Amino acid sequence: MQKGNIGVTTENIFPIIKKFLYSDHEIFLRELVSNAVDATQKLKTLAATGEFKGELGDLTVRVKADKDKGTITISDRGLGMTAEEIDKYINQIAFSGANDFLEKYKDDANAIIGHFGLGFYSAFMVAKKVEIITRSYKDDAKAMKWSCDGSPEFTLEETERNDRGTDIILYVDDDCKEFLEDSRLHGLLTKYCHFLPVPVAFGKKKEWKDGKQVETEEDNIINDTCPIWTKKPSELKEEDYKKFYRDLYPMSDEPLFWIHLNVDYPFNLTGVLYFPKIKSNIDLQRNKIQLYCNQVYVTDSVEGIVPDFLTLLHGVIDSPDIPLNVSRSYLQSDSNVKKISTYITKKVADRLQSIFKNDRKEFEEKWDDLKIFINYGMLTQEDFYEKASKFALFKDTDNKYYTFEEYQTLIKDSQTDKDGNLIYLYANNADEQYTYIDAAKNKGYNVLLLDGQLDVPMINMLEQKFEKSHFTRVDSDIIDRLIVKEEQKGEELPQDKQEVLSTLFKGQMPKVKKTEFHVEAHALGESAAPIVITQAEYMRRMKDMASIQPGMSFYGEMPDMFNLVLNTDHRLIKQVLSEAESACAEKLVPVESELAMLTLRRNELHKAQEGKKDEEIPTTEKDELKDVEKKIDAQKAEKENILNGYAADNKVVHQLIDLALLQNNMLKGEALTNFVKRSVEMI
Ligand code: ADP
Ligand code: MG
Repeated sequence: MQKGNIGVTTENIFPIIKKFLYSDHEIFLRELVSNAVDATQKLKTLAATGEFKGELGDLTVRVKADKDKGTITISDRGLGMTAEEIDKYINQIAFSGANDFLEKYKDDANAIIGHFGLGFYSAFMVAKKVEIITRSYKDDAKAMKWSCDGSPEFTLEETERNDRGTDIILYVDDDCKEFLEDSRLHGLLTKYCHFLPVPVAFGKKKEWKDGKQVETEEDNIINDTCPIWTKKPSELKEEDYKKFYRDLYPMSDEPLFWIHLNVDYPFNLTGVLYFPKIKSNIDLQRNKIQLYCNQVYVTDSVEGIVPDFLTLLHGVIDSPDIPLNVSRSYLQSDSNVKKISTYITKKVADRLQSIFKNDRKEFEEKWDDLKIFINYGMLTQEDFYEKASKFALFKDTDNKYYTFEEYQTLIKDSQTDKDGNLIYLYANNADEQYTYIDAAKNKGYNVLLLDGQLDVPMINMLEQKFEKSHFTRVDSDIIDRLIVKEEQKGEELPQDKQEVLSTLFKGQMPKVKKTEFHVEAHALGESAAPIVITQAEYMRRMKDMASIQPGMSFYGEMPDMFNLVLNTDHRLIKQVLSEAESACAEKLVPVESELAMLTLRRNELHKAQEGKKDEEIPTTEKDELKDVEKKIDAQKAEKENILNGYAADNKVVHQLIDLALLQNNMLKGEALTNFVKRSVEMI
């Protein structure tokens, strides 16, 4: 029997392995099973080249747990190891500066294990003692038993074993007993070994017999040795892709599209990416793409490897060329990884482009679901924008779809304003903004439906990308001013009458926190509504942006500002004005005449002072002007008082305001109750 020390420079590597790799203990199983698979693959290669002439036979890798003995055994019928090979590959894990390195990467078990080829030694994360019982495929090889109890000392001796291959036996540590549970092991095997290229058996298949579960003779194979990404797209049918998707994500709806990735130059990468169908934005989840290295599961956090927007996709990527044993920050700067990322972006864009070209109908049908992915890509990735701007769609409020170019052509004639800007009208809620949409359509405009989660930033981006273009929400102004074309306008009411009207309504607007109403009067035509509420595009959009972008909270704090436009052509508004004028005449006449006198005097004074320097004007005149202005203000306040007093009891004013608010979903609480009561009274 041979005794010796494992060639590490550190006093005792095992406590370090255990301590620092605590969080990722479970990967020991991946390391040991993939070693068994490697050994099997190597033997197959030797058989293919004729170096191994025996029977290959059953090559299944087996994983067993024995709760009584407290052991986990991983067995293979691969190429095995001779005594010399054990010495070379297992005993001499010499490296320097181990402590430093472990300290640096203590949070990244993959990095440590991969870096040192510690794969096998990860067994000590869960075992107090490990045995290797192995016999090489070589004719004269003796069966060997290696044993190590977690100190740097090991023993190596001859043993009995007839068959070629290797058993790794772990004597599981007391604090790791969970790994002896079938359910735990099964969970780990399906996570890490689901697609290994050699069959892996975990116990026997069970079946129901006489009301209880009994074991059958058949191996319980936990893996699919030929997952679809290892096959050629030409060998696969639509159903194969769908089935694979169902296996991976049993809870998900059928995917929208998939993309089969297959490169071997300048790097090696295969995989299948799926565009998931999401029921709501809550379903949007990262970490659904699984990353494999030669069919061994590595991770499901692919940030830094695939472009950010594609982390929302589902599927599998397999590449031996992604340096997985390094830190994340290194990964992002790695040129191979950058190439991979660019390649995937291009591949995804090309695939979407071809679906768009070959089956526009299908593309349109799926657009609403696809939109979020494509918009996200366009917003975050310039090279993707370039490609996607050819097939990205706009949907209008009649559910028709257009490419950017098609839409531009459609609205060019009717929606260009006097300065040559193309005005894109949009709604973000077809029901709530129905009236405005309807008005715009009647005017011959087209209205887009931009109700997506990313439409606010999209609009901002498109305004920069498109030349001389503006996006304006249909309710951001009265119809005549949405697209200003210097058309003939209706006769406006005299200024003072407009003011009377505004005053009548302004005083009666409900007081809502953080909301301000600006009231104005305009001739909008007899058939238009008596009152229209609008919200200016700029402020509203700034507030929208503030809600999704940190650092813009200034706008978020601003009150919501609305315009209330009174239609002076409308019968009811005319009626309110004339009734108010006659009802208030008696009180208003003295105020009005006083105002007229004061205004006259003010104008005289202004005229007298015109062109004079301040010191040339007599103090008495200055004082008089001040006094007159004060009096004018007082009279105006008085006038407002009179009108407000009148309007306070005017049911028509209140009813009109409430109807306008109601139409914009702004009539709530007590105001709504009052409205209902008043309406009933009026019927
Ligand atoms: P790696 O797999 O990266 O080479 P490991 O630490 O996992 O590093 O394994 C070290 C070496 O031990 C392997 O390269 C292989 O030569 C040998 N080995 C490990 N497990 C087996 C096995 N089941 N059968 C044959 N050889 C094995
Ligand atoms: Mg290994």
